[in-house]
Amino acid sequence: MFIANEESLKGKKNISFQSLIQLPGIRLKEISMDEDQFFVSAEIASKYGFCPLCDSKSKHLHSYYCRKLKDLPIISRSVNIELTVRKIFCDNPKRSRKVFSQQLPDKVVSYSRRTSRANERLLHLSKETSANKGSWISEQMMLRVSSSTYLGIMHKCNVSPPAKITHLGIDDWACHKGHTYGTIVVDRETGKTVGVLKSREKEDTAEWLRQYPNIRTITRDRGDCYIQAVSEALPHAIQIADRFHLIVNYSDHVISTVKNLYPDSKQE
Ligand SMILES: [Zn+2]
Repeated sequence: MFIANEESLKGKKNISFQSLIQLPGIRLKEISMDEDQFFVSAEIASKYGFCPLCDSKSKHLHSYYCRKLKDLPIISRSVNIELTVRKIFCDNPKRSRKVFSQQLPDKVVSYSRRTSRANERLLHLSKETSANKGSWISEQMMLRVSSSTYLGIMHKCNVSPPAKITHLGIDDWACHKGHTYGTIVVDRETGKTVGVLKSREKEDTAEWLRQYPNIRTITRDRGDCYIQAVSEALPHAIQIADRFHLIVNYSDHVISTVKNLYPDSKQE
């Protein structure tokens, strides 16, 4: 059994392998490896938990559940942690809530599939690159996330927009595919993300664009909302339909022409 303590390692010699997987408040139970990954079985060090409703302390065990977490890689292997968390009875007779989950240590974020330090690394990366590139780099870093997950990370990250933007690219992205969409804004000269909006509504987009009256060109998709937002906020800016959407436009036109010429033909 080993409880990691990051601070205690500084300046030490002969550091053990386990100490590299440092997560305060977590006890490592077993580590195994194969060709490209480490498997770490761990549990929350404390047996106690605090009821979130009445704050009473209890170690009256109800059951366990397992959290799977990806951590930063070690010697080119991904690190996969299986963290056992206790469900605990609240023994306070005055409260209706009987069972609660143990609080997670600071280095484990609720609902995240990665440790905080892995998330932080991806957040840093997200300030410097696009979602597709970031997704590719994350794979090389043994921390693979899809481009849509990567966009979600960028969304949480405080993107700091530059003082001046001249050429801008704008597109929508799915926070939850088919449900909620946001807007991603890229400085086309630097290729960096300069804004991530929670919405793709005309008003929200126009409000963001008004901050940059110096924008001269905007590359956008065919959606009415962006066309209207740009026309309203930056009427002098040149709007450019991006290549992908031009090809979509072209193929739509070809299909409708063929349909008009040969109304009985079947479309494959
Ligand atoms: Zn309680």
